[in-house]
Formats: sequence, structure tokens, C-alpha cells
Amino acid sequence: MSEIRVRFAPSPTGELHVGGLRTALFNYLFARHTGGTFLLRIEDTDRARHVPGSEERIVELLQWAGMAPAEGPHIGGPHAPYRQSERLDHYRKSAEALLEAGHAYRCYCSPETLEAMRAEQTARGDAVIQYDGRCRGLSDAERARREAGGDKPVIRMHVPADGGPIVVNDLVRGDVAFDSAQLDDQVLIKSDGFPTYHLAVVTDDHAMGITHVLRAEEWLPSTPKHLLLYRWLGWEPPQYAHLPLLLNADRSKMSKRKGDVAVEAYREQGYLPEALVNFIALLGWSSGDDREIFSPQELIDAFSIERIGKTGAVFDRDKLDWMNQQYIHALPIERLSEQARTFLQDSPYADVEETKLRKMLSAVQTKLVRLTDVPAHLEQFFRDDEAPIPPDSEAKLTTEEARRAFADFRQRLEGLEALNSDNFRELMKAVAKHTGVKGKSLWEPMRIALTRDTSGPDLALFVDVLGKQTILNRIDRALGQ
Ligand code: GLU
Repeated sequence: MSEIRVRFAPSPTGELHVGGLRTALFNYLFARHTGGTFLLRIEDTDRARHVPGSEERIVELLQWAGMAPAEGPHIGGPHAPYRQSERLDHYRKSAEALLEAGHAYRCYCSPETLEAMRAEQTARGDAVIQYDGRCRGLSDAERARREAGGDKPVIRMHVPADGGPIVVNDLVRGDVAFDSAQLDDQVLIKSDGFPTYHLAVVTDDHAMGITHVLRAEEWLPSTPKHLLLYRWLGWEPPQYAHLPLLLNADRSKMSKRKGDVAVEAYREQGYLPEALVNFIALLGWSSGDDREIFSPQELIDAFSIERIGKTGAVFDRDKLDWMNQQYIHALPIERLSEQARTFLQDSPYADVEETKLRKMLSAVQTKLVRLTDVPAHLEQFFRDDEAPIPPDSEAKLTTEEARRAFADFRQRLEGLEALNSDNFRELMKAVAKHTGVKGKSLWEPMRIALTRDTSGPDLALFVDVLGKQTILNRIDRALGQ
């Protein structure tokens, strides 16, 4: 088989959605698995919906998610630029070839005429509302007359009435047949000279040597139109795989109106790119066993189109949280600190020194679900030595056993040059041995005295952050309680 070439073809009309990221990911994984090429093509022919900056954000988020394309507007490559607005002559050539062969025609119907046509068909109760083909047979003279009168035509595809079924051999769904009588005479070139999606996508997939098109299920009804265009243009179509819908927990279709769909929102909420990618990979694909955690390379190794499912995939936030927690837990501390810094920017801990930050993060790492949790978890390391303790805990500091342990602890601590987690553990062992106060009777009051709280991270990691002097202050304070 020739080299596999796939593309991610977003329209720069706003935020990159998680559904878009899933499409990009499946294409990326397929390319990497097969040693093929993954390219980015910006489908910006709808000028009215174009959002400035959107293209840059898409590129940046793909980088963030670790799936940088090998070719595209920002990289170059044999067919660059991959921005459709810069390739208008290619679409015009396709349209001319179709006009020439009688597979397309110029249509002069105004928006008002089209509106009246739709209204009439609806009133009649027609099963399909579509263009009625009235401009199909215009004579040259009639066309010349319309153009002289200033009418700007669109170019439509001419779907034959008796075209029979058109079968899409979908790699996920098998053969899906469409009745050509139900296909509209789709506009290919708009009156502003820009192509519609259908003409542009076929022209470009052919020009860019795309072998496989993996895209969202919503495009399946467009595929028979694309197959007709391929047939008429004499080109071999790519293979298609339409990916299942993404659903909310209540099985409704995921959309902008319900919950978060922008990838950017997930980044801002403190999800790690590798966790989000791992989670998204399992939306409509599975490895065949129960395995859920996959590194990027493991995803590349395991991915196959055969294991893409047909049924809608539920976007389960709890599962994403769980996965993110697993990934945060497994991060080397330098990377965790690097990632956490962004989320400290607007907190009182923005300037915290690196060694201290790493120590604090090691202490709380297992508790973090998202990076946005970091500031709240750091608060405990910055409490005042005099900070109040939970009211019902006070009695635990004043028992005879607690006081004995505190006094012994204090004396030993004073003799140490510096405090760290190792010598703290030793120290606690010595206190237990010498005073006979052990287990919960020792650790509970000690935790309250030192952290001013009843729960928190491993105490040894905690005291390592605070250091000898602060711990001395706090034990003195407990002794005076
Ligand atoms: N531009 C289309 C989109 O925004 C691409 C669809 C396709 O992959 O063919 O999703």
C-alpha cells in the first residue's frame, strides 16, 4: 500500500472542541501507527464564520496535546499552504471541469426565490426539501441575459434523477447506501467565488494525496455527494471512517450549549494534556481489553481503525478526573512543579521558591485531581504558627500523654541541626520509645500541633517544608496551650 496520508481539517470558526481534538487524535494515531503523514488543513472558505485567531489557537492546542502535524500552514510541505482561502484557483479548476462535463451548472436563483421554493415544497408536504433544478437547462442566451442584468450565479452539482443508490464503504459502519434521488443539487461555488465545503474538501483530499478520511459522524450524509464528485472528476476516493458521536452523561449530543466543549476550558481547568489525550482516545475506540491508561506511545502502538466503535461515546467527567489524578500522581516532581506554576500565578504563592514548591507538591501530589487544586493545597504550608486549631481538637493537645510526648519531642528537636523528613521519622520513633506514647496517641496530637489541622499530607513531608524553627514554634505553642 502506498503511504498513508491523513488530515485534520478544522474550520477556524471559534474554539477547538473536544470532538475536534478526538478527530485530530484518531488521525494522528493512525498516521503514527502506520508510519504515515498527519497534516493540518485549515478550511476557511466560509468568510462570514471566520474567527480571527482561531487558526493560531488550533495549532497551539494541537502542540499542547502533543500531536503536531507534519505538514500544514505553519510547517510547509509539498502542497503547502494548507489554507483553503489560498487555494481558490484549485477549486475553480474543479468546478470548470464539472461544468464542462455537464455535471454542474450555473444557478441564478436569488435567496428570495430559494426561500419561496422551500416554502412551497414544505406547504405541499414534500418528503425532501431541496433545490428543484430549475436552472439546470438554462440556454446560453438566458444565462447571458441574467448576467447582463447583474445576477451573480452559484455553481451547483447536477445530481442525476436516476442515479440509483450510492454506497459509502465506511470502515467503521460497513456499507451505507444513500438514494441519489434524495441528494440535493449542492452548491459547489458560491456567488462570492468561494467554494463550499464539499467541493473544497474533495479537491484538496485528492490534491494532498489523502488516503483515509477519519471524521465525525455528522459528515456521513455528505459523503455520497463527495463520492459523486470523485466519480465525475475521475479521481479515486479515499477510504472513509466516520467516528461515533460524543455524548453527555445523559446521552444527549455534546454541544456548545451544554457543558464544556472547548479544549481550552479543559486546559484552564487543570487537566494535563496527556490525561486528556488518553481519555479522549477511549471515546469511541478501545484496545480490546479493560486497559485504560495508555502513554502516547502506547496509544500509537495499540491504535487501529478496526477497533473504532459505532455507538455514541459518553464523555464522563468523573472518569476524566480519575485519569487526570493518575497522571498527576505519576508526574516527575520537576514537571509537576512546572505545570503547577501556571496555576499559581494569581495566588499568594506565585513567587514561592522552587525547592520549597517541589517539597510541598511532593507532599500533596496524591491528593491533586486537577492542577487548579494546587493553590488550595498549598495554603496549609503558609499558616501562621498561631493559627487556630479545629475547636473540638483542643482537648487532644492537653492530655498528659500528649504533653509528655511534646516535651520529649521538643528536647530532641532542639538538639538537631536541621529538620527533614528522615530525621523527623527517627525522632518520632525515639519519642515513642522513650515516652511510651505510640500510634494514634502520638501522631494525632502531633499532627494537630504541627499543622494546626486534623488531616493533611504525610507529616514527615510536611515538616520538611516548614523546617526546624517553625516546628519548634508550633510545639512551644502546643505546650503552652
Ligand atoms: N471542515 C470540516 C470541519 O470543520 C471538515 C470535515 C471533514 O473532515 O471532511 O469539521
